[in-house]
Amino acid sequence: MANRGEIAVRVIRALRDEGIGSAVIYSDPDRQGLAVLLADEAYRIGPAASRDSYLQGPAIVELAQRIGADAIHPGYGFLAENAEFAGLCQAAGVCFIGPSSAAMAAMGSKIESRRLITEAGVPIVPGGTDVLGTMDEAVAFANEIGYPVMLKASAGGGGKGMRLVLEPDALEGAYRAARSEAGASFGDDTVYMEKYIEQPRHVEVQILGDEHGKVVALGERECSLQRRHQKVVEESPSPVVTPEMRQQMCTAAVKAAQAVGYTNAGTVEFLLATSGEFYFLEMNTRLQVEHPVTEMVTGLDLVRAQLDIAQGRRLGEEFDGLQPNGHAIEVRLYAEDPYHGFVPSPGRIERLRWPEGPGIRNDAGVYEGAEVSIHYDPMLAKLIVWGSDRSQAMDRLARALAELRIEGICTTVPLFRALLKDKDFRAGNLDIGMLDRKLAAGELAPERHSEFEDLAVIAASLEHLAKQARVSGSPVQQGGLRSQWRQTGRRESLRGEPWS
Ligand code: ADP
Repeated sequence: MANRGEIAVRVIRALRDEGIGSAVIYSDPDRQGLAVLLADEAYRIGPAASRDSYLQGPAIVELAQRIGADAIHPGYGFLAENAEFAGLCQAAGVCFIGPSSAAMAAMGSKIESRRLITEAGVPIVPGGTDVLGTMDEAVAFANEIGYPVMLKASAGGGGKGMRLVLEPDALEGAYRAARSEAGASFGDDTVYMEKYIEQPRHVEVQILGDEHGKVVALGERECSLQRRHQKVVEESPSPVVTPEMRQQMCTAAVKAAQAVGYTNAGTVEFLLATSGEFYFLEMNTRLQVEHPVTEMVTGLDLVRAQLDIAQGRRLGEEFDGLQPNGHAIEVRLYAEDPYHGFVPSPGRIERLRWPEGPGIRNDAGVYEGAEVSIHYDPMLAKLIVWGSDRSQAMDRLARALAELRIEGICTTVPLFRALLKDKDFRAGNLDIGMLDRKLAAGELAPERHSEFEDLAVIAASLEHLAKQARVSGSPVQQGGLRSQWRQTGRRESLRGEPWS
């Protein structure tokens, strides 16, 4: 397992289900990570910085050979979409659990994939398939397709090198910024231009391809709730996708995958316009963070499917013509303060209680007492709920969030509690800008009880203690009271409540 956190744990569990031994790599701060504790074997790969540890492709392949690992699962992030790494594995005779290096490279370039996908007859976001090498070319092309436009890095990912341009005056600055950001992030400053789609939804289709030419689509996920183009909440099915649309999107997704001879698990992302038209956005050549919502409504284990495909097994009939059963929602629990600009909140998890009961699944990479380091993505865990319909799934999410306790660090939990009270979210009226708009308008403020209520609780507690002391005849211990105060104060400051 060439990864860390919750996805390493997820894969180790699937391996154990299959009776396959597991080995995980770790960096210094991850020495006591949950994945290290759960895996059969664990090997230090380097210090904290990813480039010296989780991105050390050759060292990882060498380690795999040395310990006699048959295969490497890359998870998501780090080397998961690195065609060179997949090639290294192939050359070393270690199976890479994912698509071929060639399929990955074809989809890794947005320009290249747009060309291939157009040829395959799949609708793409209107715009160019050519490199914009000069400012003049950018100006000419923007005038041709009309504003607003989106500048994008061909090698892009994670929203980097992407710029929305609303009017001609802003193009020059955006063009330079997109190129330099792309160059710095990906070592490739190639940019191209797309038409900006107004208030679309992000809907994606999960696909699987085996080594014998069979490709199946497993339905869609609605991922429109994003903060700065990063997904925060995902669900399946989409509240607006009809069975006919699902059929069309799945057919398009299968065509896109076949266009590059795709194998293993992948995701074809679409933008769904308010008109009901959908356009290919990009393909992610790996397992996605949000894969559990598909698992919950199909009953499949996608990691197991990945392992089977990697071993050359055929996709059986159980993958054909699947329709979603019920409804699943996932919220991403980040160690961030959603009410102070989403600043990371590293530290020790002092207390942790996961919700339980019908329809609840926790995919966590942490445990009570674990240290959340500042070095990596701040996602701690994913909370996934299932219900027989969307309304039941929402109610179960509310129950789960009410039971959940994470203390010692700030998390995005209060934001989700507020979101569940939002009428647009409840009604499924989503678009990719909705969360940012609501946050900016202060519409998703945390439930806050007044400071007077806090004072009232403290006064009542003191009164209770004093009464107990009078009843038992023993005076209240001064030190005991003081430490109670100290503890309360400490907890408040650690939790970083919005009014502190
Ligand atoms: P990256 O690979 O950097 O994540 P994507 O191409 O997947 O970039 O786009 C990320 C997000 O940006 C999408 O989910 C969507 O919210 C928004 N987006 C991308 N392209 C467009 C577009 N042409 N019009 C409107 N929104 C877009």
